Amino acid sequence: MLPFAYTRATSVPAALSAGSRGGRYIAGGTTLVDLMRETVERPDHVVDIDGLPLREITGVRGGGVRVGALVRMSDAARHPLIRTMYPVVSQALELSASPQLRNMASIGGNIMQRTRCTYFRDVSAACNKRTPGSGCAALDGYNRSHAILGTSAACVATHPSDLAVALAALEASVHLLGPGGQRRVAFANFLLTPGDTPQREQNIQPGELITAIEIPAYPRPLVSGYLKVRDRQSYEFALTSAAVALHVRGGVIREAKVAAGGVGTVPWKLAAVERRLIGARPSAELWARAAEAATEGARPLSHNRFKVELLRRTVERQLRVVGGTR
Ligand code: SF4
Repeated sequence: MLPFAYTRATSVPAALSAGSRGGRYIAGGTTLVDLMRETVERPDHVVDIDGLPLREITGVRGGGVRVGALVRMSDAARHPLIRTMYPVVSQALELSASPQLRNMASIGGNIMQRTRCTYFRDVSAACNKRTPGSGCAALDGYNRSHAILGTSAACVATHPSDLAVALAALEASVHLLGPGGQRRVAFANFLLTPGDTPQREQNIQPGELITAIEIPAYPRPLVSGYLKVRDRQSYEFALTSAAVALHVRGGVIREAKVAAGGVGTVPWKLAAVERRLIGARPSAELWARAAEAATEGARPLSHNRFKVELLRRTVERQLRVVGGTR
């Protein structure tokens, strides 16, 4: 690890001041410290924000929920509001990482985590995300775990967060505070596909701090759940995953929120699947027909062609689990 300066922020203004001067925020430290040890990340100044008062989960007017950026993953997963209103979020959190990591990692840090592409973490490999313009070792390398959606000639890495898939499905928003004031960004616009600038991963300005995630209200009942398919049953990232939330009234699907993980350079909102569901009656045939749309636009690489069919099956299965088989 390279030498760096360390500051413990005692207030939000103090954190913003240090952040606007180039300080790098750290909370649970479950991503940044690893990357600093491997010299993938080389901040000169680390600003510890873990003591800031951003740890509340509260209901918001109109029925949504606001989750403070420093709430621990494990605390969010078991919070009564999250458990009862958005089981898909609880399940995505509980299927992430390990209990020890979930007890340390924050909600804000979770959506800021960086890819698990092995070439990104190997400083001897070519990687446009780590060193812009150096190339992408994954394109001609071993790319079994890489993305099939949202890729570019510059980068094909997946976004690793399970929580982000549930938040994308539910169309959450991210509250930010920075030197220029407050702003709120729709989750769909927060994480960025690589294009020709894969080093730019989030819609966040220098010095900005995530203060909260807000999940909107939905008509009740909203049934939801998260399915994660992986090589082993714990402490593993998704090969594919599906977050599904449905509101059915009078035997007809009125709301459908669906997103996939493990397959996209960002959590992949499945709008075409949602369109096939809305206005239809739940049935095994509908789940199969809707899931066909999940793979629209997929561009597999040399080692991950299996993800196309696995994604279709993952989405169909989770629609069946959440929506029933009537
Ligand atoms: Fe780097 Fe992206 Fe290529 Fe991985 S896929 S080596 S992160 S540019």
